[in-house]
Amino acid sequence: MQIDYLIVGAGFSGCVIAERLAREKSKSVLIIDKRSHIGGNAYDYYDESGILVHKYGPHIFHTNLNEVFEYLSQFTEWIPYEHRVRCMVEGKSYPFPINRSTINALFGLKLETEEEVEAFYASQREPITNPTNAEERVLATLGRKLYETFYESYTKKQWGIDPKELNAQVTARIPYRLNNDDRYFQDRYQMMPKDGYTAMFKKMLDHPLIQVQLNCDYFQLPSSISYKHLIYTGPIDQFFNYCYGPLPYRSVKFSLKTLDQDSAQEVGTVNFPNDHDYTRCTEFKKLTGQQTDKTTIAYEYPDTPENCDNELYYPIPTKNSDALYKRYSLLAHQLKNVSFLGRLGDFKYYNMDHAVMRALKFFKNELSHHE
Ligand SMILES: Cc1cc2nc3c(=O)[nH]c(=O)nc-3n(C[C@H](O)[C@H](O)[C@H](O)COP(=O)(O)OP(=O)(O)OC[C@H]3O[C@@H](n4cnc5c(N)ncnc54)[C@H](O)[C@@H]3O)c2cc1C
Repeated sequence: MQIDYLIVGAGFSGCVIAERLAREKSKSVLIIDKRSHIGGNAYDYYDESGILVHKYGPHIFHTNLNEVFEYLSQFTEWIPYEHRVRCMVEGKSYPFPINRSTINALFGLKLETEEEVEAFYASQREPITNPTNAEERVLATLGRKLYETFYESYTKKQWGIDPKELNAQVTARIPYRLNNDDRYFQDRYQMMPKDGYTAMFKKMLDHPLIQVQLNCDYFQLPSSISYKHLIYTGPIDQFFNYCYGPLPYRSVKFSLKTLDQDSAQEVGTVNFPNDHDYTRCTEFKKLTGQQTDKTTIAYEYPDTPENCDNELYYPIPTKNSDALYKRYSLLAHQLKNVSFLGRLGDFKYYNMDHAVMRALKFFKNELSHHE
């Protein structure tokens, strides 16, 4: 088989490139995935009760990037959805990210204005001018009580290491509010694909120049397949046979339960920072707006990839892993006809919109140099 491009991985990164190459450049593409389905980690399917669920954890679409929203809108209609999260602490439910109601409820206060809330945060902050790790970042912005109540144990469970060892960006990502806004995100577009993510990916790949092969591992690909350029969205360390050692990842076990009731919890996701081995529980119907008598929920138990069928979910961002990735990236730059992309290829946590943006930019700016 002779093709122009071989793409490894049929997640957002691979599907965007495949679609662009076929439609815009009339290139022939073979896209493979070692899993039995397209969509990467955003894959969704209907479970036995007919409820649309996300196999690899809840995926909520939100973006400020017009270009990404317009691009994906070619392949799906959307339904509006604003995600809300509650945090269970000592049997009480608080809005999360932390906002004015959270502060008032936790500290028994009656703060009313944004100035009062800002002054409260200021009174809690520890004098750390340049936070260098995930713990310091929260202590410097919210102080110790809020850190210990909402962040410390959750972060330890989620990452399996002390927050002091994690880069500051891990906790910097989580916002906090001066008002009562209890939406998890504040992006311009907060939507879910009307018929689900998998239906959207199917449309993206529906082109005569795109062939899809599932259950197909790049490292066992027959030599009869020849191509001019390889776009690889699998793990970069595996590509180089782990020559500098493995990059660290955190994984998650998902435990799905279908309940014989219409609704299971008040909002899409409930966090459990301090008790239980799981970190959070998501009710899919709350995200998708589906109307059925039953409901399916997913508990998330963070663990090592070895205990989770070797699924690699979150690159663990530490000083050591940054340095290790840089060494692999130098090797990658020496290869002429291979490009690395995506969450595993770049060893970087991307939200879906940033994975799409990275792929669109790569297509526009970098791929043309290889032709
Ligand atoms: C638990 C969880 C929840 C998330 N929730 C959100 C959310 O709410 N909102 C949001 O915006 N983002 C979310 N994300 C991030 C989102 O999943 C990523 O942005 C997206 O998956 C990136 O797409 P990708 O194509 O780069 O990687 P992936 O989706 O991981 O796709 C890579 C594909 O490559 C395949 N592959 C790897 N190695 C090989 C090989 N050797 N041969 C063949 N195929 C191979 C894999 O099987 C995989 O399908 C979440 C991520 C996780 C882990």
